[in-house]
Amino acid sequence: MVDDPQEQREIRAARRQSRGREVNETVVEMKAAGMLVIVCECADDACADTFEITPRDYEVIRHQPTHFAVRHGHVYPEVERVVAEHDEYVVVEKMRKAAEVAAQADPRRTFVTAEDADTDIDQTG
Ligand SMILES: [Zn+2]
Repeated sequence: MVDDPQEQREIRAARRQSRGREVNETVVEMKAAGMLVIVCECADDACADTFEITPRDYEVIRHQPTHFAVRHGHVYPEVERVVAEHDEYVVVEKMRKAAEVAAQADPRRTFVTAEDADTDIDQTG
């Protein structure tokens, strides 16, 4: 055990950075293999797990603003339900209020509110 606080800080920093570098190495390898490495999208604030996914599978999930890719075991049945299972991850769908919040927070959503959409619907077509 190291007694010097400065040395302890140095060791902690080096370990943290080595973990980050390890994740990045995986990201680079997977990119070369045509895969994405994404962070688990589960409801746990502290979760920073990563897993591999094909770009196509990720696009399919992103097509639904209420769908999220999470690790196995990172499902919260009281607020979401599993809609698809894969080797590395499962796809969950948010329900009720959670679905509304998720849809509104979607960085890819178009800037049309539900109210606008209602009034813009062409009833003649
Ligand atoms: Zn997670």
